[in-house]
Amino acid sequence: MKERNYAAISKNILSWHSRIDRSLPWKVDRDPYKIWLSEIIMQQTRVEQGTPYYLRFVERFPTVESLAAAPIDEILKAWEGLGYYQRARNLHFTARQVALENNGNFPDTYEGLLALKGVGTYTAAAIASFAYDLPYAVVDGNVIRVLARVAGIDAPVNAPSTVREIQSMADRMLPPAQGADFNQAIMDFGALLCRPKNPHCGDCPIQSHCRAHAMGEVHNIPKKKPKKPKRKRYFHYLIFNLDDQIFIRKRRGNDIWKGLYEFYLIEHEGLLTTEELDKVIPFDFDFHPAAANRIQQLSHQTIECMFLEARIQDDAGLEDYERVDRKQVCKYAFPRALDWYLNDKAVTLNLLF
Ligand code: SF4
Repeated sequence: MKERNYAAISKNILSWHSRIDRSLPWKVDRDPYKIWLSEIIMQQTRVEQGTPYYLRFVERFPTVESLAAAPIDEILKAWEGLGYYQRARNLHFTARQVALENNGNFPDTYEGLLALKGVGTYTAAAIASFAYDLPYAVVDGNVIRVLARVAGIDAPVNAPSTVREIQSMADRMLPPAQGADFNQAIMDFGALLCRPKNPHCGDCPIQSHCRAHAMGEVHNIPKKKPKKPKRKRYFHYLIFNLDDQIFIRKRRGNDIWKGLYEFYLIEHEGLLTTEELDKVIPFDFDFHPAAANRIQQLSHQTIECMFLEARIQDDAGLEDYERVDRKQVCKYAFPRALDWYLNDKAVTLNLLF
């Protein structure tokens, strides 16, 4: 594409953006802390889902120092339900790094931002651009879709060579003196006009530059490499009751749920019956007859969870677990399926003994 076409496209997108109103709560100031927080929360998250979390975080942790001073358990609890918990752990690590090693000041260069844990090229470009007005082009899913269609890219957009091609297009399109405005404009353009399904091509100010439209291929672009099938796992959670208390423990393994709490867990290659569970658990208990099941979809795995309540006479075999009052359990952070069980199912099925 010729340079003058890049210039015309960016001018038309900026002009379109000046006529729309898409205000988002984190766009009201240029505080790098709030921009960083919003970008981490919005990674792999829809705006409608992430916005309440952003507002709660800003209210509870108004500065990077307050976030750094909070215990990780409090941050995981505030993050509960948002998924991809590594983001919350990175958030805490980076807040401590910025607060303790840099007097609460975020780096003000792209390279300095990129060195922060949990900050990749997209997030570094977004903070550099929106907080400091540096000329770095942001390339998120919306921008990828717009540029892949404009250039009529037939190759999968998640292939490394295509990622480089699209980044190069975005860099060339970015007007250096209006970097932040253009980045916001093209992201909003993708979200509102060049949408994944039913894009508004009839109202599009860059339609004459769009190869996908000219080729009648809008609905086939962007293409993605097929994903590997998800791994299927079966978790049996036993909620052991002793008096009015249940047993939970913090996950220690270095996996996506590290630091979250869980009940006694038996993982097996398929779902087990209560008789089979009885045989593999090495102490005595009485099952409650009702069970609840929940499927949790993660990016690379599908986890089918079965929840069973059981009564025990003493805590033999559960020495590694914390014993907590059932009414106090809501203070702890759990993976989404367990949170669902505690909030919905345990009450509605009246599973308590
Ligand atoms: S013509 Fe349609 S597909 Fe092409 S950029 Fe515009 S909205 Fe997107």
